[in-house]
Amino acid sequence: MFDLELDRVVKWIGAGGFSSVAVQLPEGLKIRAPEISDYIARETGASVIIIGRPCYGACDLFDYRGWADALVHYGHSAIPSMGADDNVLYIEARSDIGLDEDRLREVLEPLPDRIGILATIQYIGLIGEMDGILRSIGKEPFVGTGDSRIMYPGQVLGCNCTSAESVSDSVDCFLYIGEGQFHPLAAAFGSRKPVYVLNPITCEIADMTASRDRMIRRRFGTIQIASKAESFLVIISSKIGQCRKDAAETAEKMIRESGRRCVTAVIEEITPDSLAAYPVDAYVCTACPRVAMDDSARYGKPMLTVPELEVALGLKEWTGYPFDQIRG
Ligand code: SF4
Repeated sequence: MFDLELDRVVKWIGAGGFSSVAVQLPEGLKIRAPEISDYIARETGASVIIIGRPCYGACDLFDYRGWADALVHYGHSAIPSMGADDNVLYIEARSDIGLDEDRLREVLEPLPDRIGILATIQYIGLIGEMDGILRSIGKEPFVGTGDSRIMYPGQVLGCNCTSAESVSDSVDCFLYIGEGQFHPLAAAFGSRKPVYVLNPITCEIADMTASRDRMIRRRFGTIQIASKAESFLVIISSKIGQCRKDAAETAEKMIRESGRRCVTAVIEEITPDSLAAYPVDAYVCTACPRVAMDDSARYGKPMLTVPELEVALGLKEWTGYPFDQIRG
């Protein structure tokens, strides 16, 4: 179960004297919106509004002003480089599961000796325990510190694996605590070391190498198709933590200098419909890099990140996949 920390939310609203509050939830927690809304309204007397639009990260912090006195953002940690707002509370919704130490000693034994530990925010609290388990079987664990986009040591985002980079030279592999492939793939692209995903509930381990290589082959194909494009749409996100105007300017300059046409658009939600009207051959996405990397097949035309554009335009050699990180 994920800890919604409702009592902390209630105390925070009372201490701030807020009479209205907006609540932003990731898709997986929207099912609990009625429970959260009812509890806060009943215990504080404040009016509560749920933000209905999709939310995939703290990069997409809702501008609550004009809607409420304050914002409670669920499911992600703050992104320090975005700056602080006393009227915004982050509830990370951490998992309350414990680790099965005996089973894990068995499962982790075959891994190489020097292991960097990574986690998504929901399991970040398990890093200390994992460190102890690894030491107990003779391994040497490392926990790296990320840049100012990263809140906690060992934390990895889908767009930032600087925690992994900081210890990459010291480790033989990374062990990511969590589920799914989204976050560990970032570490696999950014660190270029083997990444193993440990599901802390089932204690199963998966090697990310095949998934990483499959995606790199897909990206190489997309870059080759885009290299023939005569016109590009450069996309800038209006979301505060994904907005990279400098990257868009760089992309625009490179495209024009290569003799091709370019138009730049600010877009809130990047969807096939929001791009359909633009008569271009390819897209360059300066928003969340994973839109191009993971979802490009949805768009009917090739979509590149800025480092991929450099390869497509022949400005950079393909010497390993150029992962587009949003750095803090
Ligand atoms: Fe996640 Fe993308 Fe936002 Fe990074 S930019 S935090 S990967 S949604």
